[in-house]
Amino acid sequence: MKKLGALIASLAIGIASFAPMSYAQDKGMVGISMPTKTSTRWISDGETMEKLFTEAGYTPDLQFADDDIPNQLAQIENMVTKGAKVLVIGAIDGTTLSDILQKAADAGVKVIAYDRLIRDSGNVDYYATFDNFQVGVLQATSLVDGLKAKFPDTKPWNVELFGGSPDDNNAFFFYDGAMSVLQPLIDSGDIVVKSGQMGMDQVGTLRWDGTVAQARMENLLSSTYTEDKLHGALSPYDGLSIGILSALKGVGYGSGDMVMPVVTGQDAELPSIKSMLADEQYSTVFKDTRELAKVTVDMVDAAMSGKEPTVNDTKTYDNGKKVVPSYLLKPVALDKANAKEVLVGAGYYTAEQIDN
Ligand code: BGC
Repeated sequence: MKKLGALIASLAIGIASFAPMSYAQDKGMVGISMPTKTSTRWISDGETMEKLFTEAGYTPDLQFADDDIPNQLAQIENMVTKGAKVLVIGAIDGTTLSDILQKAADAGVKVIAYDRLIRDSGNVDYYATFDNFQVGVLQATSLVDGLKAKFPDTKPWNVELFGGSPDDNNAFFFYDGAMSVLQPLIDSGDIVVKSGQMGMDQVGTLRWDGTVAQARMENLLSSTYTEDKLHGALSPYDGLSIGILSALKGVGYGSGDMVMPVVTGQDAELPSIKSMLADEQYSTVFKDTRELAKVTVDMVDAAMSGKEPTVNDTKTYDNGKKVVPSYLLKPVALDKANAKEVLVGAGYYTAEQIDN
């Protein structure tokens, strides 16, 4: 009994001497809700934030929602119930979160929209993303450069347009940015969209699904390009580009006298970088997700310490209820000529990852 008492006493002393230190370091729980694992970028975004938040003294709770809206809602609800102080959300559908964010606000939880704007809610404190309009400008500019390089003697160029998921606010920014470059060339007759399918309502790709883009490209090829050749496809994301390229290869593009059309992309995913080096995909847009994660952690840490987080845009991102103060990072255009140098130089990939 005496021994037990001594043991309890020494344990109590131990706890007492450790408790203040661990208490002082614990800045609270941060719920990180990422949309999916189907694209490597979101895994990297989530894992980088998990690491940086831990280093900054927070307790991260990282969840991936498998592109399933009810799943994401349940995960976020659970984070609030467990006492998260902050939510960092990469939304699947940016319009579905209003109710849960009201609950979060009632509990005093801060909310950061991560990469994708959360719409129709006043309870979004900050937005960390890239210059999404510029992403579209870079995609269309490289499409036009590619058309000039690959088809110098052809005019008009036959181009088809692909958009991202219509429930993702970014998809409209990418499309509008791209059209700011392409529309004048369509108006002048240099580019023709032979299918006539234009506008996000006709070219959007629900959930950014590569198989949907592949099926649409296959339909376009059999309906519109049996006689005429396709010269280019605006693709807003590498996962769609790979599907589009499969459809093109399926009817013989890229072999014999069938020149591979110019296909753009986004995210610098490894299969697409390899495809670019093999002269299939023409370009992509690199967005360093590690930088986005860092900006986000800094934003949260400032807000939680009663400081003003750094933002560089207070005009662009009106979510229907408020203009959300934003930090926009710069996207970088990559093609075969600079991809390896930029990505290896940034330490995003190793040369071995690209070459193997
Ligand atoms: C992101 C892109 C990504 C796409 C599909 C967008 O919201 O900004 O980087 O390619 O989602 O995951």
